[in-house]
Amino acid sequence: MTQHADVVVVGGGQAGLAAGYYLRRQGLDFVILDAEPAPGGSWQHMWNSLHLFSPAEHSSLPGRLMAAQAGETYPDAGHVVEYLADYEKRYDLPVQHGTRVDAVRRVGESLLVETDTGTWRAKAVISATGTWSRPFLPAVPGRSTFAGRQLHTVNYRSPADFTDQRVVVVGGGNSGAQIAADLALDGQVEVTWVTQRPPRFLADDIDGRALFDVATARRRALEEGRDDTGGVASLGDIVAVPPVRAARDAGLLAAKPMFSRLTADGARWANGSHTGVDAVVWCTGFRPALSHLAPLNLRGARGHIPTDGTRTLGEPRLHLLGYGDWTGPASATLIGVGRPARDAVREIAQLTAR
Ligand code: FAD
Repeated sequence: MTQHADVVVVGGGQAGLAAGYYLRRQGLDFVILDAEPAPGGSWQHMWNSLHLFSPAEHSSLPGRLMAAQAGETYPDAGHVVEYLADYEKRYDLPVQHGTRVDAVRRVGESLLVETDTGTWRAKAVISATGTWSRPFLPAVPGRSTFAGRQLHTVNYRSPADFTDQRVVVVGGGNSGAQIAADLALDGQVEVTWVTQRPPRFLADDIDGRALFDVATARRRALEEGRDDTGGVASLGDIVAVPPVRAARDAGLLAAKPMFSRLTADGARWANGSHTGVDAVVWCTGFRPALSHLAPLNLRGARGHIPTDGTRTLGEPRLHLLGYGDWTGPASATLIGVGRPARDAVREIAQLTAR
C-alpha cells in the first residue's frame, strides 16, 4: 500500500530534525524516514572521547538551546544524542525509525519514495542523509596488500583497541588530529600521524563559534554583493580542542608527510625506509550519501548535483539539506543547518500551496 505525505524527509539526523521543526511550524503534512533504529543520527556512532568543537549554546538547532553538559565546556557525542532525542519528542516530529529509503522516483505530479518498509507518495522531498554512511578511502598504492587492520574514522572507538600496537593515522583534518591525539595521549599505542600537507592548526582561541561567525560574515558579504571575505578554510583546518592542544603541546602530534606505499606489514616512506605497522586508521573524509536519488538522474559534470541553495536544479521538488557548504553555508553543523532548513521549507510551502 502506498502512503501519502506532502513532504517526505529522508534522514532523521540533525538536518532532518531541523527540517521537521520548520515543516511543523508551516503546518505541512510530513514524515521523516530514518534508517537508524534510534534517534541521534550519526552522533550515535562517534568515537568514545569525541567532544564538540563548540560549547553547547553554540551547537543548537532552531527553537531549542542545547543545555550545557555538567562539567564539560564542549559536550560529548552522547550529550548530542540526548539533545536530538529530546528535540524529536519535544516538537512531536513524526520520525519513522528503522526505515531505509532505497529510491526516489518521479511519477507524474508526485515523487515516489521507495523504502524497505513500503512506499510513500509526496509532493516534495528533503534529502538529509548526511555523509557518515559513505566513508571515503583514497586509492593509495599497496592498500589492498596491507595485511594488518584497516579502519576508517567511522569504525574507530578507543585506544584500548590498539594497546601495544603500531598505528598509522592518515589525514590532516579534525578527525585525523583528534584520533591521533586520542591514541597518543593514551601512552600505550605507538602512533604515527601522516598528512598530505603540513597540518594547519587554528589559533587556540578559535573554536566552532568563531568558525561559524566567519562563515556567516562571508555569506552576508556575498549576499550583499561585497568582496568575498574568505571562508573558514582560509584560517586553518584543525580546531585545537583540548586533547589536540594537549597532545600537540606535549610534542606528540608531529605529522609526517604521507608514506609512498603500504606493504604487507607496514609503510614504505619516500626515502625508501620501511616501518612495521599493525593498523592504519583512515581519517580521509566522507562523501554525501545520495544513492537513493540515482533514479532522478541529477548528477552533472564530475558527478556533482547542481543546486540553487538547497533546491536541486534538475528536480525542483527535491531539496538537499546538511551536506556541507554547497547546500548552505555551515549546513553540516548543528548551529548552521537551521537557516538552510528554514529556507528549504519556505520554498516547499510555496510549491505545495500552488
Ligand atoms: P547524520 O547525522 O549522518 O544523519 C543522517 C541520518 O540519515 C542518519 O540517521 C542515517 O541513518 C539516515 N540515512 C542515511 N541514508 C538513509 C536512507 N537512504 N534512508 C533513510 N535514512 C537514511 N558539527 C558540529 O556542529 N559541531 C561539531 O563539533 C562537529 N564535530 C564533528 C566531528 C566529526 C568526527 C564529524 C564526522 C562531524 C562533526 N560535525 C560537527 C559535523 C556534523 O554536525 C555531523 O556530521 C552531523 O552528524 C551531520 O548531520 P546530518 O543530519 O546531516 O547527518
